[in-house]
Amino acid sequence: MDPIIRPKEAYFEQTARNMEKFLRVPEWTIQQKIALTCRILAAEGHESALAGQITSRGEKPGTYWMLSFGLGFDEAMASNIVLVDDDLNILEGDGMVNPSNRFHLWIYRHRPHVNAIVHTHPPHVSALSLIGEPLVSAHMDTSMFYDDCAFLAHWPGAPVGDEEGRLIHEALGDKRAILLAHHGQLVATGTMEEACVLGVFIERAARMQILARSAGTIKPINPEFAREAHDYRLKPKAVGGTFHYFARRILKHDDEALR
Ligand SMILES: [Zn+2]
Repeated sequence: MDPIIRPKEAYFEQTARNMEKFLRVPEWTIQQKIALTCRILAAEGHESALAGQITSRGEKPGTYWMLSFGLGFDEAMASNIVLVDDDLNILEGDGMVNPSNRFHLWIYRHRPHVNAIVHTHPPHVSALSLIGEPLVSAHMDTSMFYDDCAFLAHWPGAPVGDEEGRLIHEALGDKRAILLAHHGQLVATGTMEEACVLGVFIERAARMQILARSAGTIKPINPEFAREAHDYRLKPKAVGGTFHYFARRILKHDDEALR
């Protein structure tokens, strides 16, 4: 048998150094990143008419960026992202605020390190939410959700009030993601790039879970390796590189999102 040439950590370190050197993300503004995230998620099948919201903390405390209400994700442009205060009054930009953004404010208020939230109702996540089944992380590609996806079993109705905000933020706890029964999913992260990437992969994880379960029994993965893969997949450069890849797929067709 061939000997192991180097310990695995050496390869992780080498890859981390190379990602720092080679994976560059353009200096897009936060409005451009939100618009790109909206279009990336639309292209990934998250479009659900006017449902779902993508938001980010503003530079000034108590301010938040979000897509003007009435537009679909695939219509998002940097110029139709509005800035609101912590009671959903518009501070910058024209349009109407989506009243469902109120529960995002609850998460921002209680999780100071959260700067971006992606909330959508994509089909496979929604299917799991209908049967009340939590997300299972048992594949390398979806290891970002290992021990990092909560489940809210109770549906509090349309989330336009404060009570729904309290329930959702309490169920989320300190995790990055949550499946909401009879509703959809939400990810709350430090950057818009990470929220976008997790938003894409939570739907892929749900699709994988439904496919796997229809064919057999899902086997759990080794917890130690799962945690290692979780941290590796969430390295900022890996997330940035993945976001840039998804953004390039959108910008190949037109650059409307950036305008
Ligand atoms: Zn929703």
